[in-house]
Amino acid sequence: MSNLVADQLEAQMSGCRLRILIVGAGIAGATLNALLRQRGERPAMIERNPAHSGSGYMLGLMPLGGRVLNGLGLSEALARDSLDMRYYEIFDRHGQSINRYDLSELFERFGALRGVERGKLLSLLRNASGPICYDTKVKSFENVTNGALAQFEDGSQLEFDVIVGADGIHSATRHQILSANDVEDFDTGWGGFVMWSNWDGFADDTYAELWSSGWGLGLYPVPGRIGMFVAGRHDELHQVNGEDYAKKIEAQLPDGPFRKALQARDHADRPTYWKMADCRSKTWSNGRIVLLGDAAAAFLPTAGVGASAAMDSAAALADELSRADAKHMHYALELFEKRQKHRVETAEKNSRDLSKLMFINSAPGAWARDKLMEFYTLKHLIDDISKVMSGD
Ligand SMILES: Cc1cc2nc3c(=O)[nH]c(=O)nc-3n(C[C@H](O)[C@H](O)[C@H](O)COP(=O)(O)OP(=O)(O)OC[C@H]3O[C@@H](n4cnc5c(N)ncnc54)[C@H](O)[C@@H]3O)c2cc1C
Repeated sequence: MSNLVADQLEAQMSGCRLRILIVGAGIAGATLNALLRQRGERPAMIERNPAHSGSGYMLGLMPLGGRVLNGLGLSEALARDSLDMRYYEIFDRHGQSINRYDLSELFERFGALRGVERGKLLSLLRNASGPICYDTKVKSFENVTNGALAQFEDGSQLEFDVIVGADGIHSATRHQILSANDVEDFDTGWGGFVMWSNWDGFADDTYAELWSSGWGLGLYPVPGRIGMFVAGRHDELHQVNGEDYAKKIEAQLPDGPFRKALQARDHADRPTYWKMADCRSKTWSNGRIVLLGDAAAAFLPTAGVGASAAMDSAAALADELSRADAKHMHYALELFEKRQKHRVETAEKNSRDLSKLMFINSAPGAWARDKLMEFYTLKHLIDDISKVMSGD
């Protein structure tokens, strides 16, 4: 068989009803692919990375996204690969607990919050998807009469009824179809390193965060280890390597779980740096090219809801596409945006609001925050996300 990308994608779509290209086999793209296949569609899919590109970071999966797995028959597999998270606890810089939130109310009403490695969740979703062309990128997109044309880096090209840009926060699809004025950026001025800890003395049902002024550390257990986010100011962090920064934070940490976890960091896994910035697109499609997940509205990890929002949107898009015919694709994309944009931006706002509480640089500001947090309820913390989950 030919190795040209266009030929491989044509084979993926053989016998299809709609010609759909999904760009990016991340959380949103793989969820969309799996749901479409379940409905008898045969989407084509490309992913710029190789098939096995590491575990990535830890994810808290809220019921908003986790419930999509019920319909895919993957909820038992997720339960095996994840932990039930029951508490969220915040500490001050002295290691004193400020507030411990019992999440059972959330559990009872909506479903479980699960701690999982991104790589494990992706494996589940990709196994339920159709074939994926790895190591592949689109060079350019173009809306043409009654379709959208994708040109690939090997020079081959193919026309589709719709192209879905599910290529994440730095979406190349978004750059191609929208102007800079159509995208609003939000930068916290902070960033952080993801690291893994092998310390086995920490409660495996609790997310714990220690916030100081100018730095912080979060512990997020998954089966067998703890994901850590070692945060600080971007202007300081982008100049240092993760190991040096971890040593600096270790020296400032009080005795206790945060220090123990950081001391037991896994040196085999190189720390990955993430800038704490997001963006949202004013419009989610241009002609027959539509944005999904972080490509449409990206998330700070502060509320742990970006992956769930991406899955929720993938379910809505799968639904609209499965009702659409090729001729009325614009209408389907319009309905998708109407269904999801407000929901997603409401959850995104929650993440932005939390970042203002977490990422504080001054000592007096941090002191005031710590006092405020003593009285902050779970409702205050995730009010907007609760509204999204309730359908309000
Ligand atoms: C450190 C960290 C912690 C987080 N914690 C949480 C959490 O606890 N809970 C939560 O819900 N969310 C969390 N998030 C956010 C969450 O991961 C994202 O919101 C979610 O992954 C978005 O899904 P997506 O599919 O849109 O993007 P991604 O999952 O980023 O997938 C994009 C995919 O597209 C591929 N791609 C990119 N460019 C191209 C291209 N040009 N061509 C082809 N393929 C391409 C990428 O390789 C990738 O596979 C966290 C994020 C970070 C960085």
